[in-house]
Amino acid sequence: MSLADRFPDITRRNEPLAPHTHLRIGGPAEFFVRPGTADELREVLRACQKDKVPVRMLGGGYNLLVRDDPVPGAVVQLTAPAFRMIEWDGRKIVAGGGGQLFDLIAFAARQGLAGLETLVGIRGTVGGSVRCNVGDRNGEISQTVRQVTVMTDAGNVQVRQRDELNFAEHQSDLDEPVILSVEFELDRDDRAAVLKRLRKSWITRKGAEPFSFQHAARLFHDPPGKSAAGLIDRAGLTKAKVGGAELSERNANYVVAHPGTTAADILQLVDHVRDRVRERTGVTLERELNVW
Ligand SMILES: Cc1cc2nc3c(=O)[nH]c(=O)nc-3n(C[C@H](O)[C@H](O)[C@H](O)COP(=O)(O)OP(=O)(O)OC[C@H]3O[C@@H](n4cnc5c(N)ncnc54)[C@H](O)[C@@H]3O)c2cc1C
Repeated sequence: MSLADRFPDITRRNEPLAPHTHLRIGGPAEFFVRPGTADELREVLRACQKDKVPVRMLGGGYNLLVRDDPVPGAVVQLTAPAFRMIEWDGRKIVAGGGGQLFDLIAFAARQGLAGLETLVGIRGTVGGSVRCNVGDRNGEISQTVRQVTVMTDAGNVQVRQRDELNFAEHQSDLDEPVILSVEFELDRDDRAAVLKRLRKSWITRKGAEPFSFQHAARLFHDPPGKSAAGLIDRAGLTKAKVGGAELSERNANYVVAHPGTTAADILQLVDHVRDRVRERTGVTLERELNVW
């Protein structure tokens, strides 16, 4: 029995993934599953494990390129209210993995809790953002993480404490399929001061990113002590283009997908940039963008 037969109310077959990603590119998912509760999610994961169906988690699709071919197996997205809760107790906030990072940051700022406000403007879900350890020179989300509740392939819930986890620049070693929720520990501060830093970060970030109407994604990790965008500029690749895929004029470490761009265009551009940067600067850039 297929997933769609077993979980008909929450599963769609051959769901196009392009509308679910910020690049608006990519083929369909064989099964697209949006469980309503953690129990339902557990059943889905157990069925997938039993039938050897690969499982991929989709957050907001901001750090994701889906190839042009169909994606086999299950793509799971945590959009139900059960996965988007925010609970607060003193300096502690617990946020569901499917909630929006923006909602969490705004909530913390309203309570006068500091530590997340400089991340404002980074788009994504809480789960995707912790898995990718989002941040910039002003800080990373991992600095505020106290524990992460995950669900394993077998559908078991486990809690991973901060000291068991390793985070690096825009990456983590969280390898369980699902981040269910994250507990953050923040600092008390004056609400007006938190909001002031939040506004400043918003303005800075929006000025350094592709325009909000563009379909875009970040391409490479910053090598230690260096900026990927700076290296790409130094390699003479400003506004480099393959098909409809073009490096952003505002920040060369972002690709902008013009109408008609394929995933193959973007992957070719990634290879071209990596080769040219290596030739010109001696640095090998590592891809940050997740590719399915
Ligand atoms: C214009 C633009 C600007 C950006 N600026 C920044 C920036 O300044 N700093 C920065 O760090 N990043 C930045 N990013 C990257 C992106 O916003 C982050 O990586 C974000 O965390 C992605 O979250 P998401 O929910 O969209 O994850 P997705 O892109 O959907 O997924 C990313 C990865 O997380 C996994 N995942 C998603 N949800 C879960 C879950 N619940 N459980 C387990 N795994 C999960 C996916 O399987 C995938 O491997 C930017 C992206 C764009 C498009």
